[in-house]
Amino acid sequence: MGRSPLPSEAIEEIARVSSGASNIEYDLGSGKRGDRDKLVERWVSHLTGAEAATVVNNNAAAVLLVLNTLARRKEVPVSRGELVEIGGSFRIPDVMSRAGSKLVEVGTTNRTHLDDFSQVLSNKTGLVMKVHTSNYVVEGFTSEVPDEQLSELCRAHNVPFVNDLGSGTLLDLSSYGLPKEETVAESLARGADLVTFSGDKLLGGPQCGIIAGKADLIARIKKNALKRALRVDKLTMAALGAVLKLYRRSSAGYPKSSHIKATD
Ligand SMILES: *Cc1c(COP(=O)(O)O)cnc(C)c1O
Repeated sequence: MGRSPLPSEAIEEIARVSSGASNIEYDLGSGKRGDRDKLVERWVSHLTGAEAATVVNNNAAAVLLVLNTLARRKEVPVSRGELVEIGGSFRIPDVMSRAGSKLVEVGTTNRTHLDDFSQVLSNKTGLVMKVHTSNYVVEGFTSEVPDEQLSELCRAHNVPFVNDLGSGTLLDLSSYGLPKEETVAESLARGADLVTFSGDKLLGGPQCGIIAGKADLIARIKKNALKRALRVDKLTMAALGAVLKLYRRSSAGYPKSSHIKATD
């Protein structure tokens, strides 16, 4: 249905930023080239507890970039119950091969246990990935490994644990009488080293993909040459910033100074 409609604050911000020069990727203090992610990174961190974050064209790009950076020519174990196809031909096995990663199927369609992961982890493992099944549920005799256990196992093997949350809500939907969805903050608190999610699904912003989590991993991702090809423009940054600001409106600690500025 065309993804999220934007709030008027975001539309006004797009209009303002698009009508002149802007400080994107420019550090006004030092007068030197800055970091375009800095504009929204602090807000994402503030809202999710992530150490760092980066923004790319959509969540498919976020998953591709994470895999290509951390698991190129390496194995990526994923539960068989999570080998999803999202509408519009985003298929986990296809993205894996495009990223240069080798998918390792773990467990069964309905039940996957911690031991299934322990058996496949080795020095060939690049990362372990969990994928939100977004558009379907497996019901009945089912079992999945809790995030905390998977993250502990990954830590013991020194491999990153990545959770592709898809919609990636920032709010606890159950407080609105809606079914509970794991929030980005909860996923990180449960031990995900990186979380990937869309800007224009439940978040309610412009098309983009957000990668949030450990600072050292985000730094490696930003250095990947593909990041330049997958980056977002100033209008997307302006809209995303305005939407994140709405989430923070009532918070005292909101970092105003990083806001994208339009200049005459
Ligand atoms: C929607 C979705 C994606 C792709 O996100 P886009 O923003 O459409 O690129 C990837 N993974 C999951 C689990 C999703 O739900």
